[in-house]
Amino acid sequence: MTDPDRLIFVATSDVAGKTRGKAFPAADLASRRAKGVGWTPTNVMITCFDTIPDGPFGALGDLVLVPDEAAGFDVALPNDAGAARMMLGDIRELDGAPWSCCTRALLKSAIERLDRVAGLSVTAAFEHEFQFASGGPPAGEAYGFLGFAARRRFGEALGAALRAAGVTPDTFMKEYGPNQYEITIAPSAALRAADEAVMLRELTRLVAQAMGEAVTFAPILDPASVGNGVHVHMSLRDRDGRPATWSPDGPGGLSKAAGSFAAGILARLPDLLALTAPSDISYLRLTPHRWSAAYNNLGYRDREAALRICPVTASEPDAIARQFNMEYRAADAAASPHLLLAVLIHAGAQGIEDGLAPPDPTSEDLSQLAPEALAARGLVRLPQSLGEALSRFEGSAVVSGWWPETFTRVYLAHKRGEIQALGDASPAERCAAYQRAY
Ligand code: GLU
Ligand code: MG
Repeated sequence: MTDPDRLIFVATSDVAGKTRGKAFPAADLASRRAKGVGWTPTNVMITCFDTIPDGPFGALGDLVLVPDEAAGFDVALPNDAGAARMMLGDIRELDGAPWSCCTRALLKSAIERLDRVAGLSVTAAFEHEFQFASGGPPAGEAYGFLGFAARRRFGEALGAALRAAGVTPDTFMKEYGPNQYEITIAPSAALRAADEAVMLRELTRLVAQAMGEAVTFAPILDPASVGNGVHVHMSLRDRDGRPATWSPDGPGGLSKAAGSFAAGILARLPDLLALTAPSDISYLRLTPHRWSAAYNNLGYRDREAALRICPVTASEPDAIARQFNMEYRAADAAASPHLLLAVLIHAGAQGIEDGLAPPDPTSEDLSQLAPEALAARGLVRLPQSLGEALSRFEGSAVVSGWWPETFTRVYLAHKRGEIQALGDASPAERCAAYQRAY
């Protein structure tokens, strides 16, 4: 096949956390970069189960999805499966204005807000957990060498694909759950980090497919086991690119801005959770003793804290300042990485705007404390269903006010439609449905 006939897929990471778009011949790249491809507003209502709940657009309207050549990959897949070419894009109105429900535009506007209110930007690194649909190492191989070795060829092929895509692989390991693995990548500026997270998910699926395997990023596969988390490491930088998260005298090592940023996320966590843990089964994962997050707490090195201050290995102040970061753990891959980072940045910016004091870290098992004891410390059990989380989002003028009004309406209708599509399916059937979707 000659180059001009190769197809380029221009994509958006949408409200369902799905990568959707259209392909066009490479020969048309110059013109498509200017005019995009046609896009339909109602596509934003397509749930991960392919249902389309009623939304504000019906059959009406036209948009364009415009590829960003800097945000994509052209990667040879293993086993002569050919090369796949994808570019993320921006959804715009026909006059060029960003569309109210374009997740990339929503992230850009959160990034602008943080710069405006604090002169800061977020650098982020994503950890993704996923599970192979079949096969795998013998039991008892959590973090094990044989567990790793069983998928070494996959891990190396995925690492090569990521590197070819301009994404820097960090670690690959056998996670605790059955057939569960984890891949981490190096930090990047927020927009790039979200773009890379989308590329990583799609490359993981493509490489697995080319090797005759199937993987899923579904939040949890077995209500009795552990889930697949998406953990987002975040640090702040000033306008000169200097690290701004760490202060040697700050509480827990947090700078004043980072303390308010963290407090902003935790104060609004029950109201924003519907955007970072956006599936029905996300709430089977967000339960105590599953190393995910069940409370709006800050912890040091605590793998059950919603926000964790991570350890640093450096000892020189400059190096500590560069390494110092906090990890948000109450997220999964049903969330578009763009929306996930957008909501965290808005919450952090809100905390800075409101001048919030840094949160007091917790160090005990919060599931042993009575609600009153938690409340006295500003802590709550997080919403325990998607329906509850959506009601919290809808009821919070602050959190729903971070978005264009149309987006908030679309999000609520889409997600309530998703719940409806599940009908009276049992927890195991729900997990199976999401396993197929993600
Ligand atoms: N699987 C856990 C989760 O659902 C995380 C385990 C870990 O890496 O600490 O978030
Ligand atoms: Mg992990």
